[in-house]
Amino acid sequence: MDAALTELRRRLAEIADLRRAEKILTWDLAVWMPASGSEARAAQLAALETVIHERFVDDRVGELLDELEPYGASLPADSDDARLLQVTRRDWEKTRRVPRELVAALAKNGAEAYEAWVKAREASDFAAFRPWLERGLELRLRYAECFAPYDDPYDVLLDDYEPGMRAADVRAIFEVLEPELVSLVAEHASDERDDFMRGPFAVDAQHALSLEIIERFGFAPHDYRLDRTVHPFMTYSGLKDIRITTRYDENDINSLFTAMHECGHGLYQYGVAPEYDRTPLETAPAETDFSMALHESQSRLWENVVGRSLPFWRWFYPRVQQTFPSVLGNVPVEAFHRAVNRVRRTLIRVDADETTYGLHVILRFELEQELLSGRLAVPDLPEAWNTRVFELLGLDVPDDASGVLQDVHWSDASFGYFPTYQLGNVLSVQIWEKAKEAIPNVEEQMERGDFSALHSWLRENLYSLGRKFTPAETIERVAGGPIDPGPYVQYLRDKQGMLAAA
Ligand code: ZN
Repeated sequence: MDAALTELRRRLAEIADLRRAEKILTWDLAVWMPASGSEARAAQLAALETVIHERFVDDRVGELLDELEPYGASLPADSDDARLLQVTRRDWEKTRRVPRELVAALAKNGAEAYEAWVKAREASDFAAFRPWLERGLELRLRYAECFAPYDDPYDVLLDDYEPGMRAADVRAIFEVLEPELVSLVAEHASDERDDFMRGPFAVDAQHALSLEIIERFGFAPHDYRLDRTVHPFMTYSGLKDIRITTRYDENDINSLFTAMHECGHGLYQYGVAPEYDRTPLETAPAETDFSMALHESQSRLWENVVGRSLPFWRWFYPRVQQTFPSVLGNVPVEAFHRAVNRVRRTLIRVDADETTYGLHVILRFELEQELLSGRLAVPDLPEAWNTRVFELLGLDVPDDASGVLQDVHWSDASFGYFPTYQLGNVLSVQIWEKAKEAIPNVEEQMERGDFSALHSWLRENLYSLGRKFTPAETIERVAGGPIDPGPYVQYLRDKQGMLAAA
């Protein structure tokens, strides 16, 4: 028994190390690598991926899991070892279901479709991207077949990002949200320009402010890095080596929110209990399918619930004013707070505010289900998109670049990913409400720039759990119930109501 567990743990630790090496190669690719390095890097990543896959699906892993079955069954259900064995078994069986040639075909189509998508978006030419999307859809349906029988192919794809959740669960949540968001937008959308938000804001100064926030939120200086990239993300090489990335533009100050967002993802990883280090229980949502919604709940909690609140800006705005006196010197904190919470009808999801954001996600979720079920054919997608944008947001889509071609996700056929963004928003407020119950004066603390009690509560009640519990169990523990859109709607109503009354 002991020997089997030791061998399994040794194998899993090696795989974790290889994965982290892969992460650092990917991080380097996005942050430092010269453009000419791409061919060599693609070969390295493919080689590592093959080694990792082969080691993990090895029959020996299955033998060890079988041998350890009685031991796992003898343990209390929530012991670390019992959970480690369950999670490993789930990953192992899921990975073995998908033929290697299908994984390779999806990866190859994804890489080629990405290039095609970049060009099609530049030219705003959906027809140029259409064959790639059709091929991606076909491959993704073959992928779903590996998990037959199923009720709905969408359930299979969603399970990669939100294990255990079904399309019907998401539909039930979004059906409550949609009319609420539509009415909030009708009531509060504005075209106010807020000219002071256009800078100029010197990039080096934005970087210094970002570091200040990240360290105040809870990172020790030697445990993370903040670097620039084109599409910001978070990754890690160890629980005390967290890589946060961001981007800067002199004409806006969005980088502060990007830094808070990626810092939130980073704090989640940073807080995983050290005993899960180098095991499948160390949270690694992107490739070992933990809950994307839980991860996103933390980026959104720090970016929006904390980072767009008046208490936060009462603390931090004077620092921003001192840094950019010619732009913000005469702008009061209330005006700045209003500007960063302005509801605007916009065409682009990534530029959307907290209120309209959900409508962008609902649109994508609906269209993905129609594509997968065959109710909507790929050539009809742009028209369906444009019609629905008008219904949800009251906007005419002038071209495909600002419509159906705007997101990267469909280039590698990542259907099922979009809903997790909005589920994360919804959860962020449920979790915040629980944190507030536990720390009644948390907003006073924030006004003083003190986030330590909030960070500790989140670490203790969420981050430290890693992947030990299922997403549904984790959500139950930290939020006290399943995903519920009620608190999120109330939060938006309260905030917009307060801004309208002021
Ligand atoms: Zn995120």
